[in-house]
Amino acid sequence: MTFEYAPAPESRAIVDIKPSYGLFINGEFVDGNGTSFKTVNPATEEVLAEVAEASDADVDEAVKAARRAYTRVWSRMSGAERAKYLYRIARIIQERGRELAVLESIDNGKPIKESRDVDVPIVAAHFFYYAGWADKLQYSGYGSTPLGVAGQVIPWNFPLMMLAWKIAPALACGNTVVLKPAETTPLTALLFAEICQQADLPPGVVNIVTGAGDTGRAIVSHPDVDKVAFTGSTEVGKAIARAVAGSDKKVTLELGGKAANIVFDDAPLDQAVEGIVNGIFFNQGHVCCAGSRLLVQESVADEVMARLKRRMATLRVGDPLDKNTDVGAINSAEQLAKIRELSEIGESEGAERWSAPCDLPANGYWFAPTVFTGVSQAHRIAREEIFGPVLSVLTFRTPSEAIEKANNTPFGLSAGVWTDKGSRILSMANRLRAGVVWANTFNKFDPTSPFGGYKESGYGREGGRHGLEGYLKNTEKGADA
Ligand code: NAD
Repeated sequence: MTFEYAPAPESRAIVDIKPSYGLFINGEFVDGNGTSFKTVNPATEEVLAEVAEASDADVDEAVKAARRAYTRVWSRMSGAERAKYLYRIARIIQERGRELAVLESIDNGKPIKESRDVDVPIVAAHFFYYAGWADKLQYSGYGSTPLGVAGQVIPWNFPLMMLAWKIAPALACGNTVVLKPAETTPLTALLFAEICQQADLPPGVVNIVTGAGDTGRAIVSHPDVDKVAFTGSTEVGKAIARAVAGSDKKVTLELGGKAANIVFDDAPLDQAVEGIVNGIFFNQGHVCCAGSRLLVQESVADEVMARLKRRMATLRVGDPLDKNTDVGAINSAEQLAKIRELSEIGESEGAERWSAPCDLPANGYWFAPTVFTGVSQAHRIAREEIFGPVLSVLTFRTPSEAIEKANNTPFGLSAGVWTDKGSRILSMANRLRAGVVWANTFNKFDPTSPFGGYKESGYGREGGRHGLEGYLKNTEKGADA
């Protein structure tokens, strides 16, 4: 039986997208050197705005503003005073939550139900959580001395959430920041700059500079930046690690992943299918910790695949602003080309491809939810991050085989384990080389819980008490990692 839904679009009247945006330096929007780039709505290909592209000189201005704010104001302020600003920012994020969610969906392509119910609440929660730490740093285990100026570079898949994960702990610890959003999703970071003004944050404490790779490079290699925090691809992460080697900058890297989502034969299968769908189709699969490798026990593989395909056929792909939409637009033409290329490689390697039947909109960047069966460990679709709504399925017979296959990857960010009442989680979790292991759930995030990787997924943790370590001098004897 098929169901027809009436569209239920969220109004975009609440957002005020300006024709052009400058750089946010020292508490003000400034023109920069005059060059700019366009940001596009990936669901329609409509040009949304012209955004300033920061040059080396602009980045230098931003770092100088951050340094002044650090020495004159922010590092001298008590933790309790800093907390007041963070609480104020958190409350404004909640008050302007709908505006932020709509703008995020327009600029990024993610479904409004996700930006509204996942991204924005987590962003506010992050500021609330780290506001609470600002006057308790002496209990952190990492000392309470800030580093200075933090240079932060983030990707396009969770633009606001990645901003919050970077800025909230940095400010709570007494650092000032220069942050660069990704070139395809700058608008919510610029709205956040307005929120900093609204919160009366002292000028220069937060600086937002827009641009692409060259602007990012100028930030991370600037000699007066004390800390580099990067989230993005493993390739760029390695380039950054090389660029800062030999300097005394503190570095944290949150990079790619290729998570195993492991389903045992005693698992509640309908729940596991929901977890598989959430693991790979949440945010169009543009998730570093996406459950992109399904490992299913051989005895239930046919049953799981039948239920999964039935469920995938009900996913609604389309307008990100429609409240019924489950899977939105692919973020850019370049990302769509990468997903198509790797999927074609999967077919040429001999895996069997199945895509959910759905009508894709004529304009914009779209990819139907897709699953590959008959995948072997040597296949590129089992090894490389596709970063899209594409699932590779492998089978196993024993728990040891599941562990071996799950760990057979250069990455180590996350994993999921599905068993009856979570019974196998304790015997599995310690043997999985992954920063986060979810039991009978997937893609759950909380500001109190540290997140980060092993191996080529990077180093350092964001979130929780551990997230403070990357922003403090770690003066305490015996501080743990
Ligand atoms: P990307 O590495 O291409 O870009 C990330 C950011 O780095 C962008 O702002 C970009 O402009 C900037 N950049 C590019 N070249 C640079 C350079 N040489 N120096 C400094 N900055 C530079 O990654 P992407 O395509 O935007 O994002 C997708 C990747 O991010 C995926 O691999 C995903 O797994 C990863 N990711 C990881 C996490 C995590 O927490 N581990 C979270 C989200 C995304």
